[in-house]
Amino acid sequence: MTRTPPGPRVQREPGLPARVTVFEVGPRDGLQAETDIIPAAVKTELCRRLYAAGTLNLEVTSFVPPTWIPQLADAEQVVAALDVPDGARAVGLVPNLRGLQRALDAGIREVSVVVSATEAFAQANLNTTRSGAIDRAVEVVAAATAQGIPVRGYVSMAFGDPWEGAVDTAAVTEAAAVLHQAGSRTVALGDTIGVSTPGYTAAVIAETLAAGIPVESLALHLHDTYGQSLANVHAALRLGVAEFDSSVGGLGRCPYAKGATGNLATEDLVWMLHGLGIETGLDLDALAATTLWLSRIRNVRASSNVARALAAAGFDTPDPVLEAPSA
Ligand code: MG
Repeated sequence: MTRTPPGPRVQREPGLPARVTVFEVGPRDGLQAETDIIPAAVKTELCRRLYAAGTLNLEVTSFVPPTWIPQLADAEQVVAALDVPDGARAVGLVPNLRGLQRALDAGIREVSVVVSATEAFAQANLNTTRSGAIDRAVEVVAAATAQGIPVRGYVSMAFGDPWEGAVDTAAVTEAAAVLHQAGSRTVALGDTIGVSTPGYTAAVIAETLAAGIPVESLALHLHDTYGQSLANVHAALRLGVAEFDSSVGGLGRCPYAKGATGNLATEDLVWMLHGLGIETGLDLDALAATTLWLSRIRNVRASSNVARALAAAGFDTPDPVLEAPSA
């Protein structure tokens, strides 16, 4: 008797969105925090596999100066080699107008920008002040939208900050409102250090909605550092949030807590969403296979629960073509 891979038990919960947008950040947010340099050809193959698994919303790289993030210094090379399926997105993160120009020259037709809810993160990671980062992002949003380029905005440290601790929710909603009013199609609130819990997540979302951001324009970018990310997703679903960021295999770690878990893993998110009867358009087995493929190439342990469980249950089938040792 052949066994089929295990899947989630399914029970639809009334009142939740019927369909959710999963915004895949593995190749950008995931890889930028990994220390082993991944060849451009592997990054391109990662994107190909993600698209083949049904990914429609993919952040492919970042156009920050190569000296900031050497891992993503090959942005142009990766984008040139992409084969983006019809109807799918290939988003590039840009730090400023110069990065926007690089992205456009490379052929990118949708960009993302980052601002910070806190002063400390802006100074440590964006090399500017909190308001300086917002001004810079607004400049990019204006220049991009004037050329018909959609923009996605991130608010980092929206739920907690490693230096400042608690974060003023008014600072979060203000940053989100500025990005929204400037013309960002989506604003993603980031729990960059994974400290939020479901009730707190719901409270921040409620205040953001009250500040005039429509729920259709709101996304959550969660980290699983303390094991709370799926509980936070569930709390957000109950408020109608229908877009979540995740990283295949949980790529990305946590730059502020060495050895800790980073981004919410796409296959863990999709397991829960499919279990709730929510459509994603994603192929769970293909995502897990992608995680296991990349883990083998990098010689690291897969860091998503789903990929590890499927592998432990014997559903880690090597791909004979792509796994062939190169001479
Ligand atoms: Mg992240």
